[in-house]
Amino acid sequence: MDLNNFTTVEQMEAETARLRECAACSGAETWEDRKKAQTPSCKFGEDGVCCRICSMGPCRITPKAPRGICGADANAIAGRNYLRMIAGGTAAHSDHGREICHTLHSTKKDGHYQVKDEAKLLRLAKEWDIPTEGKDIYDIAHEVALAGMMEYGKPFGTQRFLNRATDERQKLWNDLGIAPRAIDREIATAMHMTHMGNTADAEALVMQGLRTGMADGWGGSMMGTEMTDILFGTPMPKDTEGDLGVLEKDMVNIIVHGHDPAMSEMIVVAAEDKDLLDYARSKGAKGINIAGLCCTANEVTMRHGVRMAGNFLQQENALLTGIVEMITVDVQCIFPSLGPLSECFHTKFITTSPIARIPGSTYVEFHPETAREQGRDLVRQAIDNFDKRDPAKICVPTRKQPARVGYSCEAILKELNGVTNSHVDERDTYKPLIDCIKAGVIRGAVAIVGCNNPKVRPDHSHIEIMKKLLANDIIVITTGCAAQAAAKAGLLRKEAKDLCGAGMKRVCELVGIPPILHMGSCVDISRMMLLATDIAKDWGIDIPQVPVVGCAPEWMSEKAVAIANYVVSTGIDTYLGIEPQVKGSVQMMELITEGTRKLTGAGYIINTNPDTLVQAMIDGIEAKRAALGI
Ligand code: SF4
Ligand code: SF4
Repeated sequence: MDLNNFTTVEQMEAETARLRECAACSGAETWEDRKKAQTPSCKFGEDGVCCRICSMGPCRITPKAPRGICGADANAIAGRNYLRMIAGGTAAHSDHGREICHTLHSTKKDGHYQVKDEAKLLRLAKEWDIPTEGKDIYDIAHEVALAGMMEYGKPFGTQRFLNRATDERQKLWNDLGIAPRAIDREIATAMHMTHMGNTADAEALVMQGLRTGMADGWGGSMMGTEMTDILFGTPMPKDTEGDLGVLEKDMVNIIVHGHDPAMSEMIVVAAEDKDLLDYARSKGAKGINIAGLCCTANEVTMRHGVRMAGNFLQQENALLTGIVEMITVDVQCIFPSLGPLSECFHTKFITTSPIARIPGSTYVEFHPETAREQGRDLVRQAIDNFDKRDPAKICVPTRKQPARVGYSCEAILKELNGVTNSHVDERDTYKPLIDCIKAGVIRGAVAIVGCNNPKVRPDHSHIEIMKKLLANDIIVITTGCAAQAAAKAGLLRKEAKDLCGAGMKRVCELVGIPPILHMGSCVDISRMMLLATDIAKDWGIDIPQVPVVGCAPEWMSEKAVAIANYVVSTGIDTYLGIEPQVKGSVQMMELITEGTRKLTGAGYIINTNPDTLVQAMIDGIEAKRAALGI
């Protein structure tokens, strides 16, 4: 295969530069300009030692002033700031999960939202002891949705999804006191603990960080993934494309951006309505083209193969093309700059959730009872906007890459069934994968997740780390903006097997998979937790022993910090390419790198150099193999 067929980071940067040049005439400003204006950033903030949680402050820690006015030291301040980040991240994912529960609760046989995966719904009902015999599927859906919502605020017990973990993990979480109770309760506890005059002990803050993170990964995020699969279908492998070249000059381009798929699903469905297609054609367009950004893109690509325009730091670039008729967003990771930027172009910027109200947008609040019509109405408005493009501002992107997506756990098991002997082998287990790892043809797995961050070259760490892992026979699973970086680079193609070592290449050929498996959006990292758990169960070992690690090379959001905490709680080492903002506290740095390892069997490994970071991961996987004697 011609390796030049992969897109390099340099090519991506050249495309960005070209778009910015075009945009310069329209006076548009992008994150690169604002990053410059914000540099250098405040050292106290970088180190996590400024505090403004009461009005005696703000206080900041210096050698001359080692305590805030209340007496809080660097450990307390950095620890509290860190825990508040985790609470913020957990709140975001969990509220997303709750919204999806509400959407499931609104389903009706002839309603705007319906149940697509009945088998998954019935499995969850059984898991939660909800009787199903002789009941209407929608009654079951409503009961399951309600039970899911109760997980947010139940007064007693711990979260139901924890029962899915290995027995060893469940015992450990209980023994350590980090088994989360109700999802909202852990967020509230974190906010309470970090209020002025409460916890100043860094260790206690880190422990609550683990528990709050778990409320996300084994609570809110898992809820989001499960309910979304039930509503819109469990993803299965399918072909699509990624990068800005998926925008079509001759078509009405609508971008869906954010996280919660309830709105984007309605746009995707509406764009297929014949009368709207005819309407688009009547306006001179060849059709309606839906493309996604960030995790909303991941949701709709996993289930419908909708093409991905790009990831977090590409959101402004999409508008700079001048050919986006509408960008419609739901929640999270939406730059407020889209307001002024869309005003530079003909692009309509639509916000749809009371959680994300942004100046410069048109607000259309989505409701389950009217969602279908609202989706159609937005598509119609986008069509009406098609002939308002300014030819002087059009800068058509050139690059796109084919990608194969849709690797839910169910899909991975199905692919593995394809290489079992139905006469002698068990089906629906990870045994074929485990055999490959034991034999050493695959050395292990790395989950590459997370965002882009202007502190590093966008996508460079994602792509370089992925390539090096493949060359070392390490399979990569990916979600979020990391997955989109892989898509843009062409690494989600089956042909990417040519980048692998001989062992992995053979496995990819036999199973018929790309060497990097796109597992979905950020809430779908909960799929990865279940994958690691079920591999451990099928193998007969505990999770920290499995040669698998997590990595967030370019993380930026509070959600990423929450994710890192549940991954570590689950017993999976987490490699970070961006330093957490706790450096001003030696104790906090020790706790998150080594302290948690003594408790959960995993911790952070932090290194801002991608080459060193990836080598540390390879060494970490080889050390786990050696400990297993394989
Ligand atoms: S809580 Fe303490 S350290 Fe923080 S702002 Fe108030 S007085 Fe300062
Ligand atoms: S990976 Fe990060 S930037 Fe991308 S959608 Fe998720 S939280 Fe947002």
